[in-house]
Amino acid sequence: MKIAQVESFHIVADREVHAAAGAVGRRQAGTEPGVRALDYNTGRHLCAYPTIDQTLLVRLTSDDGLEGWGEAHSPPVPGVAKAVIADLFAPLLLGQDPLAIEVLWDHLYASMRLRGHGSGFMLEALAAIDIALWDLVGKALGQPVYQLLGGPFRTRIPCYTGLPGETVEERVANAKQYVAMGFTAMKTGTALGDTSGALAEVGAVVEAVEGQATVLVDAHGAYDARTAIPAGRELERMGVGWLEDPLPPEDLDGYAALCDALDMPIASGETECTRWQFNEKLRRGGADIILPDICRAGGISEGRKIAQVADLFNVPWCAHVSMGSAIHVAAALHLAAATPNFLICEYRGPLRPNPLGDVLLQEPIHYADGHLQVPPGPGLGITFDDDALAARSLDLYTPVG
Ligand SMILES: [Mg+2]
Repeated sequence: MKIAQVESFHIVADREVHAAAGAVGRRQAGTEPGVRALDYNTGRHLCAYPTIDQTLLVRLTSDDGLEGWGEAHSPPVPGVAKAVIADLFAPLLLGQDPLAIEVLWDHLYASMRLRGHGSGFMLEALAAIDIALWDLVGKALGQPVYQLLGGPFRTRIPCYTGLPGETVEERVANAKQYVAMGFTAMKTGTALGDTSGALAEVGAVVEAVEGQATVLVDAHGAYDARTAIPAGRELERMGVGWLEDPLPPEDLDGYAALCDALDMPIASGETECTRWQFNEKLRRGGADIILPDICRAGGISEGRKIAQVADLFNVPWCAHVSMGSAIHVAAALHLAAATPNFLICEYRGPLRPNPLGDVLLQEPIHYADGHLQVPPGPGLGITFDDDALAARSLDLYTPVG
């Protein structure tokens, strides 16, 4: 079996809105897609987000006609991963044996290693190829990916959801609804607005679900090593389950000091992309829980190595999924099933359905009682609804008029 074709597809939740910007197809009135920056408190920690849900999917086709799908977590600029895949990876992959996943991963990673591309866009693009290889090989062998990885430790994967709501009243109401749907963990933020007010709002949510669900807090790097400790102590007193990304990711010494100062777990890891980066953070005592993103951190192959590195430090891993599509969710679930030190998976719950999730699939990924079921079929175990996918693909779009 050889790799015969490497393609990528820019997928958007609302193609008409995207078309309105003139990027493709007809122009029409409406909200233009683009990028917005959120300022997390300090004025220094700006983070850019796309104004529409979008991602980059990869399709590998073998010479015997099998397909494997992968995803690069690529907000807000999927065009970068697309160019890396088309101009750098595709020539290195065509004609190669897809079963040699480890060899191919190493060759692709090495292609830019000495130029300093050991993270970021490069690893997001590599993640897409790696996941597509696992999907393709699973289909070729008629086995789900989690079994090829030596699993399962579990096939029902615990999950938590983010709490939507503009006001604390809305978040409290949504938290209660999620408890009724079986969620026993949910995440809220402290990042935007006045910090002390944000902590009080977390307290209101904790109180609303006390004894029924654990509340996790994401601070999006809003504190520094000095301000994080008193805020962390207050959250610890409330019984918060973890404090995520309290500091900017470069401050490893600050993370280590915070882990020392608090009993509440400090979680981070949506920034790091490789086993080497996680090893450095963990060796310095900078995390109690890690949150790698499988569609950013080099895919399933590197994700498994990252989980093993974490296990050496008795640290569990959780899947960061954020704005990922159904491919992202499925890839995270297969790795979660096949690694002993997995804790919980992020999932966009029913109150804020993923516009690139189940809607793209013939069969949804099954949720029940705070758990997602690992798709059981060959490869990633999911099959696209071709019409639903084409309706959201800019690359398959034929302009009208
Ligand atoms: Mg986060």
